[in-house]
Amino acid sequence: MASTDKPIIELKGVGKTYGNISALRGVNLAVRQGEVTCILGDNGAGKSTLISIIAGLFAHDDGDYLVDGQPRRFSSPREALDLGIAAVYQTLALVPLLPVWRNFFLGSELVKGKGLFRRLDIAKMWAAAGDELHRMGINLENLEQPVGTLSGGQRQVVAIARAVHFGARVLILDEPTAALGVAQSGLVLRYIAQAAREQGIGVIFITHNPHHAFLVGDHFMVLGRGEVGLDKPRSELTLETLMYHMAGGAGLSMLEHELHGESRTTTAK
Ligand code: ATP
Repeated sequence: MASTDKPIIELKGVGKTYGNISALRGVNLAVRQGEVTCILGDNGAGKSTLISIIAGLFAHDDGDYLVDGQPRRFSSPREALDLGIAAVYQTLALVPLLPVWRNFFLGSELVKGKGLFRRLDIAKMWAAAGDELHRMGINLENLEQPVGTLSGGQRQVVAIARAVHFGARVLILDEPTAALGVAQSGLVLRYIAQAAREQGIGVIFITHNPHHAFLVGDHFMVLGRGEVGLDKPRSELTLETLMYHMAGGAGLSMLEHELHGESRTTTAK
C-alpha cells in the first residue's frame, strides 16, 4: 500500500522531564501510513519515554503532539488506542497457558446470546483469530495450543496481529526482535514489513539493532541522551552511516583512533 504524505501522528519539539532530569528534548517525528519509522538509541537514550508519550502512558511537557492534525494530550493509553495508536511491549501481554484464540481476544471477548444465555462465541473468535493470522502468513496447526508453546517470533506475531485486528493505525513495537534468534527475528521483520506495506499501518519500530532496522525501515531516527542525533529517510542513508551513528558516531571514531594509536605504540616497543 502506498504511503500518503499526511502524517497520522506528528511530534513537534516534544520534550519531557522527570523532576530535574531532562529525558527528551526537541523531538520532531512524523509517522505516515504504510511506512516503518525506526527509532534507535542506546540505553537511556529516551526511547521508552518517547513511546510512552506516543502511546498515551503519560503526557509530554514541551512541544506539540498531533494526531490527524489535531493537538492531543493523552492521559491514558485507552485514549490513544481509541484513535488507533497501539503499543506492543516486549512483555506482549499474553497469557502463556491460554490458547492462541483466547489470547487474541483477551479482554475483548466476543459473546452471543442474551441474559442467562449469554456466553462466549468461541466459534467466531476461533475463526477470526485464524483468519487474521492466516492473512499475515502464520498458519498454526492448532489455535487451541497454549500461547506459551509457540516460538518467540510466533508469540510476537500473535501480539502484533491482535493489535492490527483491533484497529491499530499506528503500531509501536518496543524492541520486538531483542530476545530473538536470526530465524525468529526474520519472521517478525517480515511481518512488520507486511503490516506496513499491505495493511497500510504506520509502524514505529524501536530497536538497538541497525541491521534489523535497515531491513524494513523507511525512515530512521537515532536518539542520544534525549536528543535526536540522526533523522533521515532511507534514500539519504546507508547501513554504514546508521551503524556509525548508533555506535556513538564521532565518540567511537575517537576511541578507535586512540586504541589504534595505542596498539601501534605497543607493537613498536
Ligand atoms: P532503555 O533502552 O535502557 O530502556 P531508553 O532509551 O528507553 O533506555 P528512557 O528509559 O526513556 O531511555 O530514559 C531516558 C532518561 O530518563 C534516562 O536518563 C533515565 O534514567 C531517565 N528516566 C526514565 N524514566 C524515569 C523516571 N520515571 N524517573 C526519573 N528518570 C527517568
